[in-house]
Amino acid sequence: MDFMLTEEQLMLQDMVRKFAKEEIEPVSSDNERNHRYPADIISQLGELGIMGIAYPVEYGGAGMDFVSYMIAVEEISRYCASTGVIVSAHSSLVCDPIFRFGTEEQKQKYLPDLLSGRKIGSFSLTEAGAGSDAGATSTTAVLDGDHWILNGSKIFATNGKEAEVFVLIASTEPSQKTRGVTTFIVDKDSPGYSIGKVEQKLGIRSSSTVEIILDNVRVPKSAMLGELNKGFKVSMVTLDGGRLGIASQALGIARAAIEDSIKYSKERFQFDQPIANFQAIQWMIADMWTEYESARLLTWRASIMKDKGMNYSREAAMAKLKASEVCMFCANKAIQIHGGYGFTEDFKVERYYRDAKITELYEGTSEIQRLVIARTLLK
Ligand SMILES: Cc1cc2nc3c(=O)[nH]c(=O)nc-3n(C[C@H](O)[C@H](O)[C@H](O)COP(=O)(O)OP(=O)(O)OC[C@H]3O[C@@H](n4cnc5c(N)ncnc54)[C@H](O)[C@@H]3O)c2cc1C
Repeated sequence: MDFMLTEEQLMLQDMVRKFAKEEIEPVSSDNERNHRYPADIISQLGELGIMGIAYPVEYGGAGMDFVSYMIAVEEISRYCASTGVIVSAHSSLVCDPIFRFGTEEQKQKYLPDLLSGRKIGSFSLTEAGAGSDAGATSTTAVLDGDHWILNGSKIFATNGKEAEVFVLIASTEPSQKTRGVTTFIVDKDSPGYSIGKVEQKLGIRSSSTVEIILDNVRVPKSAMLGELNKGFKVSMVTLDGGRLGIASQALGIARAAIEDSIKYSKERFQFDQPIANFQAIQWMIADMWTEYESARLLTWRASIMKDKGMNYSREAAMAKLKASEVCMFCANKAIQIHGGYGFTEDFKVERYYRDAKITELYEGTSEIQRLVIARTLLK
């Protein structure tokens, strides 16, 4: 397996890194502190082709590979983890299932607007009673002539406040549990659709996380995404790709923590010398970088497997598990290296620490990733 980036991937990395440093970094802390969605940044990312990076040009995508998308999410998350998840949830959890499972009509209807970033997407699997147990969905979809009638509520929908296109899961055969759920595409302006509680969060505060209320929402039969009662499979395949997006977000946060720590350790003097002279600090930095690189190798390997059309479920779970735990480790060490100043809002490591935690929770907690990995090994 070749872990060297191609010339095209390196050019993309350079371009996104430059954009993130020049355009995202100056506004990210203020946006995060004020819970402000980075609308301008998202529209510029759309113009650069980043909102539809790994999808065919014929639908309005940039026609690049999945590895390129992973590189972009890491570079964006290096300066703003909120923007990283906005891009990742939109692309992996909405564009991907529509591209993979949609009819030609659905692709033509939704992808050009989504891939260009003109419209934002949100994915809703989670409910109050259905978190890790995603198949326990109680939202229902009942066929009424040529329409489906959806009732229920979803929680924790990333991008839910800004999104115009929703991919969501509802039970179409309640007695069949995971074999009785179906995926639907719902437009924001559907009558009966509304936003409920907007979450106030520990981190990634520039991205919205909301409750979606479905009160007799009537969608045409053609809103079904994929086959009837095959929605659980659609979700699981979708989450495989999504987990790599979160792994890349985690890598971006981890790299931010390491780079800021290196800079600070050279500037901070104690005992008449930079703290970088102390072996205790050097070892922390060495461990952080080694862990970061090992997580990145797992993430790129799984991404290469996805690009090659191989089954990569276990590899995606391993990448997400490792990258999120490395992310927490690096954010923690970064505060240690910054000492008391790291605990204040004067340094960005405080934000990295708050942002890092979510990577161990969403798109499957670390326990669920271990479950996925163990199941494939023990079967
Ligand atoms: C900021 C944010 C954004 C989110 N974005 C989205 C989104 O866009 N779309 C969406 O659908 N969802 C989203 N989620 C939901 C997220 O994916 C879930 O919160 C997550 O899957 C965990 O579900 P839960 O919170 O119900 O925890 P629970 O499932 O209640 O888990 C609680 C604890 O029990 C453990 N546990 C549960 N089952 C097992 C088991 N079988 N074995 C071992 N341990 C177990 C868990 O690991 C965890 O430690 C988001 C959540 C947050 C906080």
